[in-house]
Amino acid sequence: MTQLKCSADTCVNNCSGLCALNGIQVDGSTACCCSETSCGSFSAKSGAFTNSVGSMDAKPETRIQCHAHECVYNKDMRCSADSIRISGHNADCCGDTECATFKAR
Ligand code: SF4
Repeated sequence: MTQLKCSADTCVNNCSGLCALNGIQVDGSTACCCSETSCGSFSAKSGAFTNSVGSMDAKPETRIQCHAHECVYNKDMRCSADSIRISGHNADCCGDTECATFKAR
């Protein structure tokens, strides 16, 4: 499974740079570069839920379903990379995040 690191620190699922979800979806069916991809599983923290996810819940291994089929790592809508990085410091929405590991075919 792919090891995920994520810098979208405003996402409710982000635990110290890891994701608490077992799997995420990366969007970008027409993406030709990193900035045209995004994490479709991003969910902005709202005040009351700021610390809703404990760091114990997050593991690096994450299932990545990916729509960016122009990426070399995309195999049948799954990510085959050993590790990826989602970036999105201070993101307000999915569109503010991206898969920084995207590599065009
Ligand atoms: S590295 Fe490529 S295949 Fe893997 S999640 Fe990022 S864009 Fe999708």
